[in-house]
Amino acid sequence: MKMGSAFNLGKVFGIQFRLHYTWFIIFILVTFSLSWQMFPADYPHWPQFLYWVVGIVTSLLFFASVVAHELAHSLVGRVNDIPVRSITLFIFGGVAQMTREATKASAELKMAAAGPACSLVIGGLFGLLWLFTQGIIEPIAAMAYWLAYINVILAAFNLIPGFPLDGGRVFRSLLWRFTGNYKRSTRIATQVGRGVGYLFIFGGISIAFLLHDWFSGLWLAFIGWFLENAASASYRQAQWQEALRGVTASQVMTSSCPVVPPNITLNQLVQEHIFTTGYSCFLVADEGKLEGILTLHDIKAASPQNRDMIPVKEIMTPVSQLKVAYPGQDALSILEQMGESDINQMPVVSEGRVIGLIARDNLIRLLHTRFELGT
Ligand SMILES: [Zn+2]
Repeated sequence: MKMGSAFNLGKVFGIQFRLHYTWFIIFILVTFSLSWQMFPADYPHWPQFLYWVVGIVTSLLFFASVVAHELAHSLVGRVNDIPVRSITLFIFGGVAQMTREATKASAELKMAAAGPACSLVIGGLFGLLWLFTQGIIEPIAAMAYWLAYINVILAAFNLIPGFPLDGGRVFRSLLWRFTGNYKRSTRIATQVGRGVGYLFIFGGISIAFLLHDWFSGLWLAFIGWFLENAASASYRQAQWQEALRGVTASQVMTSSCPVVPPNITLNQLVQEHIFTTGYSCFLVADEGKLEGILTLHDIKAASPQNRDMIPVKEIMTPVSQLKVAYPGQDALSILEQMGESDINQMPVVSEGRVIGLIARDNLIRLLHTRFELGT
């Protein structure tokens, strides 16, 4: 799922915390089902306003529990060298966006298990609160009971062994540990994940048609559809990762980028360099100092009429807008960085000198080639 339309709410422990617009839907659904249905059914003697106060507080504490679950993943991940960039709350709960996948089975196992473990602990704490308040402060006991119950459900649901649910990650890490084969473990775990997704869809449709519980049925089917999609996407991503494993910037860069002065016109560049030599990238430098880079892409984008007027420095990508890569940097992280910053090329810098250029198209072409060859 694209997490584009989300609000930034600030940072918790250095992790960006975001609210996707679909979260408001689930927040309203949960609050209404508590305040409108559950509490009135179980405690018919409460005054009307109390249903809403307890319902809203319970609902907020529930989402705080979801955040705690994601934070547990994130903090354990960080300790195990899997940094987490952001946590987003959305319609199906929360997701922690990792900057990369685990490189060790034990790290993935700890990180994946941390979330459900946290939910169980929170569930236990609310259980205790319920024990101490039951029969004494009814609204708090009611709230604590539901929160204990829902956190245990949350832990149990997440432990379903279908990737990318936490249980699926635990499953993959165990397969990975015993077989030593990351690729095959991922394939199996994501296939189980897709199977779980289909099972939810099938179960949901059955509930809708056989029990006529349309809401629960469609909700379940919807979750199943989401899981199936997420499992497929995770598998694709893992394949990409596998295809680019061990490939470094220095292996994929183009090192034959001639240096041109910033003041020659586009026409001169085309006539003197491109037509005669066939180069497709240029480093624009004045007396050895890099000012920017220029690719065929930039040249094609410039209007053809003014080519004899425009100096190359006007259409180049200036140094200030460039992100640089290092020779030993892995290709996948470069591709991710390009995607994040929406840039199409990165110069490779070694000891302050540009030694080559990486274009996004080349990287993607390489990815497809390796992917098709199955290497
Ligand atoms: Zn989790």
